Amino acid sequence: MKKIFFTPFMVLFILLWVSCSQGNYPQSGIVRKAYKTNLKRMRTGYNHFVPVNLPLDSLGAKQWDAPSPNFDIRTPDLVIIHYTEENSCPQALYTLTNPNTNRKVSANYLICKDGTVFKLVDERYRAWQAGLSRWGNFNNINSISMGIELDNTGKEPFSEKQIASLLVLLHTIKSRYYIPTGNFIGHADVTPTRRADPGTYFPWEELAAQGFGYWRDSVLPALPDGFDYKTDLRLIGYDIRDTAAAIVAFKRHFIQNDTTPVLTGYDKQVLNDIFLKYDQ
Ligand SMILES: [Zn+2]
Repeated sequence: MKKIFFTPFMVLFILLWVSCSQGNYPQSGIVRKAYKTNLKRMRTGYNHFVPVNLPLDSLGAKQWDAPSPNFDIRTPDLVIIHYTEENSCPQALYTLTNPNTNRKVSANYLICKDGTVFKLVDERYRAWQAGLSRWGNFNNINSISMGIELDNTGKEPFSEKQIASLLVLLHTIKSRYYIPTGNFIGHADVTPTRRADPGTYFPWEELAAQGFGYWRDSVLPALPDGFDYKTDLRLIGYDIRDTAAAIVAFKRHFIQNDTTPVLTGYDKQVLNDIFLKYDQ
């Protein structure tokens, strides 16, 4: 009988094939394949793009087109989490996919209470989810982020199945785009004067335990000399043009059981604690 020998190269190939074909998320292989296919199509189609012609009289010499193949698709750097503030997933789907309403909103994903995930806008595209917003020095949040809507009225806890699906989705997003831990934030964090989602029921502590966003430590460091809450809020990323709104947004996310627009001594220690994590 003929024996089959495995060379080290074959073993490596099989291991790679197995690791690539079994993600903890069934769509990850499909998404990767779609990304590669589209990237190939974009590159071959690049010669058909219409270049912007700069006004020649303002240039020192003629403008030439010299297409370079050295590019790929822009990728998100932030993940924004929302609640739908709707009564059901079908109702939210209607709103998020309807081109004929005044609101015209969407997200990249919608997760229902039973854990079902709907992909609404391809990850490569800019979903209309954050609206007028700001984080750090970025104003165009939709262009640098991915949005995930959770079916929730805003007045109820999130279901376990829903959060389990969210965590699976976040694991795949974080590993594919190398999104920093502190860049998993809520809609209210980037729109303190307009929005409250994902609200005080959202389990930020549970997410932080798995590397998605930060959470306060149980033992908080003492406040340093010269502590300035406005500077810390601003450096974390909050828009502090309306200071009270920024404080409420911070407390919704990191305190949760008190959202009054004032910082207690404890709140200040939490703010300093979170700031030190962002400052690493
Ligand atoms: Zn929202």
